[in-house]
Amino acid sequence: MVQLLQKKPLIISGPCSAETEEQVIETATQLANTGFVDIMRAGIWKPRTRPGTFEGVGTKGLPWLQQARKITGIPLAVEVATSKQVEDALHFDVDFLWIGARSVVNPMSVQEIANALKGTKVPVFIKNPMNPDIELWSGAVERIANAGVENIGLIHRGFSTYGHFEYRNAPIWHLAIEMKRRYAELKMICDPSHIAGRRDLLKAVAQKAIDLDFDGLMIEVHNDPDHAWSDAKQQITSSALVEMFGQLVWRKSEVNPEDGTQIEQFRSEIDQIDDELMQLLSQRMELSAKIGAIKKEHNMTILRPGRWNEVFEKGMRLGKRLGLSHEFLTGFLEAVHMESINHQNRVMNA
Ligand code: PEP
Ligand code: MN
Repeated sequence: MVQLLQKKPLIISGPCSAETEEQVIETATQLANTGFVDIMRAGIWKPRTRPGTFEGVGTKGLPWLQQARKITGIPLAVEVATSKQVEDALHFDVDFLWIGARSVVNPMSVQEIANALKGTKVPVFIKNPMNPDIELWSGAVERIANAGVENIGLIHRGFSTYGHFEYRNAPIWHLAIEMKRRYAELKMICDPSHIAGRRDLLKAVAQKAIDLDFDGLMIEVHNDPDHAWSDAKQQITSSALVEMFGQLVWRKSEVNPEDGTQIEQFRSEIDQIDDELMQLLSQRMELSAKIGAIKKEHNMTILRPGRWNEVFEKGMRLGKRLGLSHEFLTGFLEAVHMESINHQNRVMNA
């Protein structure tokens, strides 16, 4: 099982939830026929936001999964949220466990799961928490690692945000990238199903994950997606999965020598420009601090809305003309302005 984690791309697929024995076996057989699914997922216990919806079949579904594994040879992954669920899953010899987004937000749940995992060898995937808090995600990794779990993987499933957006869960890719930086030795899998929340966006999310050098994908597949008992809108058939895989462009992270040399050249130019950017930003902040000293002397407020508006609009106009995106420019100009305010604040309230 541990070697399997080295496979790239690692493909985890299966229904959101195990519903009936027939559904599990039928879906498993279809997944086996694709020839590329490495691990079969199925939710047995479903933490649901609202009560009164399907909360999983519970322990009675575990023998169905065992049966599916016996027929297909594909190892199993199940979500666990309590110590009892860990015990039950291990009792039925589940090969991989994952901790869901609703559990990762709660350090006590994570600790309970970690305690139950002590002394076991089972690999564990940790999904990001519901909210975009990377420290909670890191904290869960630390708790599970401290319990002695040797094989940990990460799953990026997007973050819950207020309001209606294109995605069910906003990807906020840079948080996943930061986790890849912090834990370079851990595999990072993308779960496009829970990010997209709808079938038509799955492929684009999966492709983005591949382009960002993710190590694998977790995609929900059901033998009859329209009638699934949970997450019907985002589940696809195994033939849709095969079709999508045919369309994805798989990229390699290594480069061949000639391309490598050229990339190196461009990279050294980029490094040079980044250095200069830092110097310029620092010079800009020094000037701000000088203005801060004058404002202090004349007892003026730091924020001059008219001036900020002028700087902002001028920056947006120029940036757009130079091909920079609206989103980047807003974030950048606001960050520079905030840093400037902080420098002046330091001078004025020293
Ligand atoms: C799931 O994988 O079906 C699930 C409930 O995921 P998440 O924890 O990402 O919401
Ligand atoms: Mn689901």
